[in-house]
Amino acid sequence: MLIVPEALIASLVTPEDAFRAVEACFAAVARGEAYNFPVVREALGEGRQYGFKSGLDRAGGQLGVKAGGYFPGNAAKGLINHQSSVFLFDPDTGRPVAMVGGNLLTALRTAAASAIAIDRLARKDAHVLGIVGAGHQAGFQLRAAARVRRFERVIAWNLHPEMLPKLGAVAAELGLPFEAVDLPRMREADVIVTITSSPAASLMAGHVAPGTHLSCMGTDTVGKQEVEPALVAGASVFTDEVAQSVTIGEAQHAVAAGLLDAGAITPLGQVLTGAHPGRRSGGQITLFDGTGVGLQDLAVAAVAVARARERGLGIEVGV
Ligand code: NAD
Repeated sequence: MLIVPEALIASLVTPEDAFRAVEACFAAVARGEAYNFPVVREALGEGRQYGFKSGLDRAGGQLGVKAGGYFPGNAAKGLINHQSSVFLFDPDTGRPVAMVGGNLLTALRTAAASAIAIDRLARKDAHVLGIVGAGHQAGFQLRAAARVRRFERVIAWNLHPEMLPKLGAVAAELGLPFEAVDLPRMREADVIVTITSSPAASLMAGHVAPGTHLSCMGTDTVGKQEVEPALVAGASVFTDEVAQSVTIGEAQHAVAAGLLDAGAITPLGQVLTGAHPGRRSGGQITLFDGTGVGLQDLAVAAVAVARARERGLGIEVGV
């Protein structure tokens, strides 16, 4: 079994690798070659969440699980709040293949999913990127979005405005003008990424202009919520996994309120395989409910393991 520690990941997996790996696994799901197992997610108290995301990709030859969670007290200890590890197994024998640090991989695969949705669903002429959130994931989201559209400026809102300058620094690095705005000014955005741990909606239907694409990435647990259910109900909704979207994703609230039917939610993989056309008009609001699936974790971890083996990196242990 190969151990690929967290410290090696940055030198092994690029955002481009993550984009391709996540695209491949979403498409494999749509072709019926891969599936996610039900998520286990438990509240540990004091806002801590822990769980397991797992799956099998027959096309990619991956079986495994990501164990990890969200620990809001970590930032004060100099650690990121999201901590995880990915375990890969041989799908034929069940033998352990690798243990891989999952923190950077989580950020890369989450930003990749959002960027794939923007790439496939946002208007081609999208010029203004809006970001709601400014925590650890937000910078990754900004970088990944900037790879798929020619944005001319970035506007951002965060409940804790003191966190925004760090996101502004990422925009500056990309050569993009950055402005902190009030939520109603999100109407200027052509694409909006939401990436907060909010327990209640911040972004309302009135804050979003017709023709906008939204990638809602922060809601991955029962009780989290970033946008008004009426906004979800009025949009064409896409997701990584319908079963997760309606239970732990942003759509949980619109479905519970009877505003949205699970049958109206389209797996993004169907757009990737051409089974669904995606955006149908310039005035339509498209919304990707990115809940985060185990297969994404396995796909990027497999890239890390392959690169580490090629380069003789990582720690081989007998099992
Ligand atoms: P973080 O702790 O670094 O940042 C949290 C963000 O949420 C900050 O912008 C903070 O200001 C904001 N926030 C906190 N409380 C809020 C409230 N009550 N109302 C509005 N905003 C509030 O977290 P992070 O690592 O950037 O992750 C952000 C979210 O994304 C978390 O909920 C995390 O679980 C989720 N996430 C989802 C996926 C996925 O695949 N969908 C993957 C990773 C993380």
